[in-house]
Amino acid sequence: MSWQDDFAASFMPNRAVPPLMLSHGRGSTVWDVDGNAYLDMFAGIAVSALGHAHPALVEAVSGQIARIAHVSPLLTSEPEVRLATRLLELLDLPGKVYFCNSGTEANEAAFKMVRKHAGAGKYLVATENGFHGRTMGALSLTGKKAIREPFEPYGADVRFVPYGDAEALREAVTGECAAVFLEPTQGEAGVVPAPDGYLTAAREICDATGALLVLDEIQSGIGRTGTWFAHQHEGVRPDIITLAKGLGGGVPIGVCVGVGASADLFAPGDHGCTFGGNPLSASAALAVLETIERDGLMAHAVKLGEQLSAGIEALDHPLVAGVRGRGLWLGIVLAEPVAAAVREAAQRAGFLVNNVQPGAIRLAPALTMTVEEAQSFLDALPAILDEVAA
Ligand SMILES: *Cc1c(COP(=O)(O)O)cnc(C)c1O
Repeated sequence: MSWQDDFAASFMPNRAVPPLMLSHGRGSTVWDVDGNAYLDMFAGIAVSALGHAHPALVEAVSGQIARIAHVSPLLTSEPEVRLATRLLELLDLPGKVYFCNSGTEANEAAFKMVRKHAGAGKYLVATENGFHGRTMGALSLTGKKAIREPFEPYGADVRFVPYGDAEALREAVTGECAAVFLEPTQGEAGVVPAPDGYLTAAREICDATGALLVLDEIQSGIGRTGTWFAHQHEGVRPDIITLAKGLGGGVPIGVCVGVGASADLFAPGDHGCTFGGNPLSASAALAVLETIERDGLMAHAVKLGEQLSAGIEALDHPLVAGVRGRGLWLGIVLAEPVAAAVREAAQRAGFLVNNVQPGAIRLAPALTMTVEEAQSFLDALPAILDEVAA
C-alpha cells in the first residue's frame, strides 16, 4: 500500500488525496518523503511566514514546551500577556484581544461581538467570493456559494455585495445593518485587491449608520503586504480585526481584536476556548513578530514582491493575463482556466505553487525568501507555462 492508498482509506473525502507527502523543510525549501526538493512559493497558504525550521521559531517553541505548553484560559502565562501587548502596539490602536486557535474561530468571536453590539434582529453584509472560514458562523459570511450553500440555513441574515464596489456597499448598509465583514484583499478568491479608497469608503459608510466594520486580516496581516496589517496602507480604523495564518509561523493561533468601544463588547463568560492563548502558540507568535521586525522582513516583502510581479509581467507569456496583489501575496491571472495544470508542471520543475482558482495561481512565499530564490522561480516559469500551453 502506498501512502496515497492509506490516505484515501483513512481520511474523509472532504480532502483530495494530496499530491505530495512532505518530510521536512529549511527556509523556503521543502523535501518530500522520497527526497525530492521543492522551492515553496506559498508557505502552507501564507502561514509559514519565516519559512521552515527558522531558528528563532525552533528556539522559542522548543524552549517554551520544555517549560510549560498549556495553562488554560483560567490562568495565564508571560508569553500570552506579552503577545497581547505587542499586537496592540503594532496595531497602534486602543483595543483588546481574544486569543483562539484558527481563523474561523477568530471570525466566530467577531460574529458574537456583533450580536452583542446589535442584537439578533439586524442583518450583516459581506462580499461575493469572500472567504471567512468553514464553521457555521464564519461560513454564513463566506460569499463563495459552492461552499456556503450546501450547509444552509444559517442563523443570520447575511447579504452579499460585489467586492470592491463602494456604491453597492453604500446601498446595502442601512441602520438595520449590524456589521460589514471585509477582507482588505480577497485571498481565496485569487488575491483580488480592493480599489484604493474602498476601505476608507467602507469606514465612512459604517460610521454613517452605526454598523461595525470587521476586517478579516487572517491572510493579509502580519507583514505579508509590506505593512504589519493591510488596513494600515489606507490608515482606516476597523472596529474588529481578525488574525491567524502567518502569526504563528506554522503554530496554530487566531486572534480577534476589538478596537475602541468594541474592545468591551464581551461580558465575563460570554466567550472562551480551552487552547486560546496557550504559551506555546504565544511564544511562536512573539518569535515571528520579533523576527519580522529585527530582519526588516516587511521592506524585504515589498522588494521581493516587486521583483516577482515585474519579472512575471516581463515574461510577456501568452498564458499570463496579469499579476495582482501587493508585497509577497500575488495572484498570477491566467488567460485560460489551467491553474491545476500549472501547479502540476511547477511541481515537476521543483516549485510549489497554489492553484487558488481555476484561472489564478497564488504566490504567498515566506517573508524570508531570498532574491536568488525568487529569481530561480522567475527563471523556471517560462518553461512551466510553455509545458501547459503545449
Ligand atoms: C484562511 C482564512 C480564514 C480561515 O482560517 P482557518 O484558520 O482556516 O479557519 C478566514 N478568513 C480568511 C481571509 C482566510 O484567508
